[in-house]
Amino acid sequence: MNESAIGEEHIAQLSQDELLRYSRQINLAQIGEEGQRRLKNARVLCIGAGGLGSPASLYLAAAGIGTIGIIDQDTVDLSNLHRQVLHGTSDVGNEKTDSARARLLAINPTIAIETYTTRLSASNASELVHDYDIVVDGSDNLPTRYLSSDVCVWERKPNVYGSVHQFEGQASLFAPHLGGPCYRCLFPEPPPPEAIPNCAEAGVLGVVPGLIGMIQALEAIKLIINKGNNLLGRLLHVDALTLQFREFKIRRDPNCPVCGDSPTIMQPIDYEQFCSGGNDSKVPGISPRQLQEMISAGKKVALVDVREAFEFEIARIPNSQLIPLGTIPERLADIPRTETTVVMCKSGARSTRVIEFLREQGFENLLNLEGGLDAWREEVDPTMRKY
Ligand SMILES: [Zn+2]
Repeated sequence: MNESAIGEEHIAQLSQDELLRYSRQINLAQIGEEGQRRLKNARVLCIGAGGLGSPASLYLAAAGIGTIGIIDQDTVDLSNLHRQVLHGTSDVGNEKTDSARARLLAINPTIAIETYTTRLSASNASELVHDYDIVVDGSDNLPTRYLSSDVCVWERKPNVYGSVHQFEGQASLFAPHLGGPCYRCLFPEPPPPEAIPNCAEAGVLGVVPGLIGMIQALEAIKLIINKGNNLLGRLLHVDALTLQFREFKIRRDPNCPVCGDSPTIMQPIDYEQFCSGGNDSKVPGISPRQLQEMISAGKKVALVDVREAFEFEIARIPNSQLIPLGTIPERLADIPRTETTVVMCKSGARSTRVIEFLREQGFENLLNLEGGLDAWREEVDPTMRKY
């Protein structure tokens, strides 16, 4: 498939209702009835129904993309709602794919929504991506981002990329088959897991993924109507605090392991070790269940929680001591040197880094709470508040 062929097969007619619904965009010379029919024929896969996928899919649905696929394995959490505007308060606890479908069809019942309540994985990615014209990648983690980029290269599908961090966001269009780079041209290999800060815990202002997700929807629409200049070969960076948009030229790397001239990666890879709490790390761990058994058996164990104070307020394991990660170097005296000390955070990532640091300072008998408080809630105490 080439760029201009998107949405051209089986050109469908528009009903009177559709002509009216889309009249304000059909009025645009660059769209017209033909463009609107292309949108109707197009199939766009949104990876993730979160901060980026929410605004992207809302606008894609409103614009009349005929088939929108949504893949997301998560349920709606109260802490999602400040940015994931697809979902409402009454959806908390339900599958995101369910609230996404209901909301998108409420906006536009003339389109089809296909949902996949699962994780994008090496075993399902190629088949899924193959069924769509364009992928809008709204994933919030590196394993999925590498997987979606790699598979789009092999399936020759444009991958509309977006990512956000705190007050910053960036977007681009990856499509080596159209002459641009892929994600791996920029970042050939994932960084080691311990170098990734707080996968699950980084903050973000809700408006920022809103902004980037809409740019992703815009890029998908422009690809379908084949108008304007897209982000191929350009990385757009937005700083929301200063409201500066900057742009960087990016190129396909002939040495890229996936889209390069002599590719070395030919199969989808699941990089599952990321954000999994440092399972790859040499730091010794303890499972939530083992820790609970130690505590109930009355064994002497110190619990050090390295999250931030506000997180500690939301949820904590009884008798744990709060020493936020950033204060560790100046509070070494507060950390027991003799008894067994279990270090914990939300997911196990921060605590792994703290243990590595403390061992360099000569500490021994340190154990990482594997999977952090998230795993403790799942395995030991389901009543613990989630955030
Ligand atoms: Zn590449």
